[in-house]
Amino acid sequence: MTQIGLIRCEKNENRCPLTSCLRSLKTTTQGFAGYEAAELVGVFTCRCPGSGVADMAKILKRKGAEAIHFCTCTFAHKEEGAWVEGRGFCKHLENLLQQIAGEADIPCVQGTAHLPASYTPITYGAAPAGQRSA
Ligand code: SF4
Repeated sequence: MTQIGLIRCEKNENRCPLTSCLRSLKTTTQGFAGYEAAELVGVFTCRCPGSGVADMAKILKRKGAEAIHFCTCTFAHKEEGAWVEGRGFCKHLENLLQQIAGEADIPCVQGTAHLPASYTPITYGAAPAGQRSA
């Protein structure tokens, strides 16, 4: 059972209750498909310009998180009912995920639910524990 911390974007916090993210985590599908089983440790909201994300990840790690996932809406958008890579909420997501992997020393995965077609989740840092072997 891999313990997961989620970080969502403030730009979506009043519109999205994370239903699809939580469902994908529970069923280990989409961005969580690599895990045998996954359990949510907690959720934080990133606030622009994202300077607190490494500290949030450190707290989630202390609570037991073995990997952090950033929500798909940060790097993808919905177009005619389908999620498409690009034009997500965050312009410097790569930098945030690198900060987390480096400063909090925990794998940070870009993606949760409704992944764009042909997108494979990118992991910053070492591969999370508990992933299925290929
Ligand atoms: S820094 Fe990026 S992920 Fe964080 S709140 Fe701003 S746009 Fe969202």
